[in-house]
Amino acid sequence: MRAIVYKGPNEVSVETVDDPKIESQTDAVIRITSSGICGSDLHMYEGRTPASGDMRFGHENMGVVEKVGSAVNSIRTGDRVVMPFNIACGSCFNCTRGFTNACLVVNPEGVSGGYGYAGMGPYPGGQAEFLRVPFADFNCLKLPGQPGDDFEDDFLLLSDVFPTGYHGAELAGVGPGDTVAVFGAGPVGLLAAYSSMLRGAAEVYVIDGIAERLAKAEEIGAIAIDFTQGEPCKQIAKIRGSNALVRGALRPGEEKMSGVMCGIDAVGYQARSFENPDKENPVQVIDELVHVVNPTGRIGIVGVYFPEDPGGVDGAAKKGQFTLPLGDIFDKGITIGTGQTPVKRYNAYLRDLIVAGRAKPSFIVSHRLKLDEAPAAYRKFDRRTDGYTKVVLKPEATASA
Ligand code: NAD
Ligand code: ZN
Repeated sequence: MRAIVYKGPNEVSVETVDDPKIESQTDAVIRITSSGICGSDLHMYEGRTPASGDMRFGHENMGVVEKVGSAVNSIRTGDRVVMPFNIACGSCFNCTRGFTNACLVVNPEGVSGGYGYAGMGPYPGGQAEFLRVPFADFNCLKLPGQPGDDFEDDFLLLSDVFPTGYHGAELAGVGPGDTVAVFGAGPVGLLAAYSSMLRGAAEVYVIDGIAERLAKAEEIGAIAIDFTQGEPCKQIAKIRGSNALVRGALRPGEEKMSGVMCGIDAVGYQARSFENPDKENPVQVIDELVHVVNPTGRIGIVGVYFPEDPGGVDGAAKKGQFTLPLGDIFDKGITIGTGQTPVKRYNAYLRDLIVAGRAKPSFIVSHRLKLDEAPAAYRKFDRRTDGYTKVVLKPEATASA
C-alpha cells in the first residue's frame, strides 16, 4: 500500500510499504477514506519533536473496516468507523475511569498510545491506504452513512480536533452565558470556539495574528482579536467596556471583571511573541490568559508543551521548563486544566450532534487532497498561510488516479 513517510525535518514522501495485518485477535484493519494532517504532525515535521526516520504519520483516521480479528465482536467488515487519535486498551486503571489519553497498556515506552506519533508507541499512522487498529472494539466508533457523503469530513474531525476543541471548553468549564477567550485560530482553536458556542457561551473571543484564520472565527459568530494590533486583554476590555449593554448590566465592583471567565490555550509552546511575531515566546499565551481571565475564572490548556524540545528558545525551554505567573494565578484563584484529550469521552456524543444536524465542524476544512499531494500540503500547512487551515487526505483518490 502507499503511505506518507517521514524522511527528516521538513520532508515527507509517499512510499510503498507493507500492508498492515491482523497481529492480535483484537485488531482490525481499516481501509482509510479520510486522514487529517494536524498541527501536532507539524511538531514532528519541523524536527521539534524528534521522530524516527521512516515513521508513518497520521493520527486522525477514518474509513471502512476491511477485516477483523476473531475476538472482535462489535464491528464487522464493511462498517464505517472513525478512531480516536489515542489508542487505548479499554480495561486498565486509567481507561476504565475514562482517561483513554493515559492508557497504561498500549505504549511500551510509557503512558498514552497513538498512531504515527513520536513517543506514543509502535503504531504506524493512517495517512496511508490502510491502518491497523489495536483493541478495535474499544477504539472504533461506528458511523452511519456512506464513505464520501456529506458527513465525511465532519466525522473525520471526531478523531481529534473536534473533541480536542471541546475538551478545551470542558477544561475551561464553559457553560451557558459564559465569556470565553480562545487563543489560536487553527483547527483546534476554531473548534474550541465552536464548542464553546455549542455549550451556550455568550461571548467568544478568538485571538490569532493570521487574518484568514480570524475571518473563519468571525464566520461562526466569534469576535476576532488580532494580536498584532495590541495586547489582547486590552482589546477585549475595550470591546466589553464600550458595549452599552454589557456596561448597563454591571453591579458594584463588576467593572473589575473586565476580562473573561474562561480561557483556552489552543496554541501551545510555539506561541508567537505579540511584540515581535517573527519570534517565539513559549509562555506568551499562558501569560496573556492569566491577564485576561477574571478572578475565580478557569483556563483549559490543550495546545501542547513538551518535556523536551530541541528547538526551544533557551536552555530551560529545551527541557520543557517555563516561568509561569503562579503568584497571579494563585491571587486570582484561577483553575487550570491541561493535557492530551481523552477523545473517547466525547466522540459518540459529538457524532450524534453531527448526525442531528446540530454541529458541522467541517467548516474548518480547507483542502481535500490525494496522498501524492501530501508533501506539498505539509509545506504549505506548515507556513499556516495560503488558506491552508485544515488538510484532509483522501487515500482512495490516489488509488483510483
Ligand atoms: P495550528 O498550528 O494550525 O494553530 C495554531 C494557531 O495559533 C496558528 O493559527 C497561529 O497563528 C496561532 N498563534 C501563534 N502564536 C499565537 C499567540 N501568541 N496568540 C494567539 N494565537 C497564536 O495548530 P492546531 O492544529 O490548531 O493545534 C493547536 C495546538 O493544539 C497544537 O499545539 C497541537 O499540537 C495541539 N493539539 C493538542 C491536542 C491535545 O490532545 N491536547 C490534540 C490536537 C492538537
Ligand atoms: Zn491531531
